[in-house]
Amino acid sequence: MNDAIRPQPGIMDIALYQGGKAHVSGVANVVKLSSNENPFGPSDKAKEAFAKSVHQLHRYPSTDHAALRQAIAETHRLDAGRIICGVGSDEIIHFLCQAYAGPGDEVLYTEHGFLMYKISAMAAGATPVEVAERERTTDVDALLAACTERTKLVFIANPNNPTGTMISAGEVARLARGLPPQAILVLDGAYAEYVEGFDAGLSLVEAMPNVVMTRTFSKIYGLGGLRIGWGYGPQAIIDVLNRIRGPFNLSNTQLETAEAAVRDQDYVAKCRAENARLRHWLAEALAEVGVPSDTSMANFVLARFASTEEAEACDDYLQGQGLIVRRVASYNLPHCLRITVGDEASCRRIAYAVGQFKGLK
Ligand SMILES: *Cc1c(COP(=O)(O)O)cnc(C)c1O
Repeated sequence: MNDAIRPQPGIMDIALYQGGKAHVSGVANVVKLSSNENPFGPSDKAKEAFAKSVHQLHRYPSTDHAALRQAIAETHRLDAGRIICGVGSDEIIHFLCQAYAGPGDEVLYTEHGFLMYKISAMAAGATPVEVAERERTTDVDALLAACTERTKLVFIANPNNPTGTMISAGEVARLARGLPPQAILVLDGAYAEYVEGFDAGLSLVEAMPNVVMTRTFSKIYGLGGLRIGWGYGPQAIIDVLNRIRGPFNLSNTQLETAEAAVRDQDYVAKCRAENARLRHWLAEALAEVGVPSDTSMANFVLARFASTEEAEACDDYLQGQGLIVRRVASYNLPHCLRITVGDEASCRRIAYAVGQFKGLK
């Protein structure tokens, strides 16, 4: 290796993102509840669109994503010109950091916030700043107090992953209004569809010049494997992001599948209702065996244990039973396990196994 060839400062400090585990050695039929995937997969209409896209494989995809943006705009009553589509919302987060933060700039996110905020901030050479939460919930006062003249981006997920908690529209608006003039508030709405009657904060995006929203097809749409996300924001900001977006960042298959998925809101509503029912059942079942959780607004439950040791021992036990959940020590929650709300059989299996574990001790 040539010593003169070196990455930009800070790149080697980035810790590699660890995805949710998918396998346990020696166990054949595992239930994967570690990545907040929709247990029912995508809608049939999305699958049909995916299959049909095979006939277009030799064609370059559209560079402006007009059809998908139009479908999203009609569904959510938005201005299609202010939508940008990306390779997962991860790519939109990446664009925001690349375009708006660099060396000397600060990027804020909360104590138990999504790891991609930190990774993207560091990739841009900016300084990541972790801000304390209150009882595993975003603390607007703490975020406002952490702002400086170097703050360029403030990320919050609402509902948040991995806590499942959310803050009110009034609190989000107070945060947006209180930021210094050079800072953008990014509302990560990866789980917004799981909240009944929630506009995800889009009315705030419409009202403010400094608020951007990110959304994804990876969660309720059941398309995590295909990698599609989108962002919505003020025209000036979206125009900036489009300058650094690769012209062919999304394939025909991604675009056409996502378009069919967003047009099938009946399926989204069905998944939302089923998730709410099973989430409630799971949280109660866990509480009954002495494992509490905060009221989750998303498609997972953050199970709290008495100690890091107990959480790790429970995770080991569950893996032995073929049940994969997520350790969240990297989210500063070493005494917790994040459990995705699966189908009914998976919820019953996990509740039973955690009960067995608690009884075994
Ligand atoms: C899962 C998740 C996303 C989605 O990322 P994609 O790149 O769209 O798959 C974004 N933000 C949070 C907080 C998430 O948990």
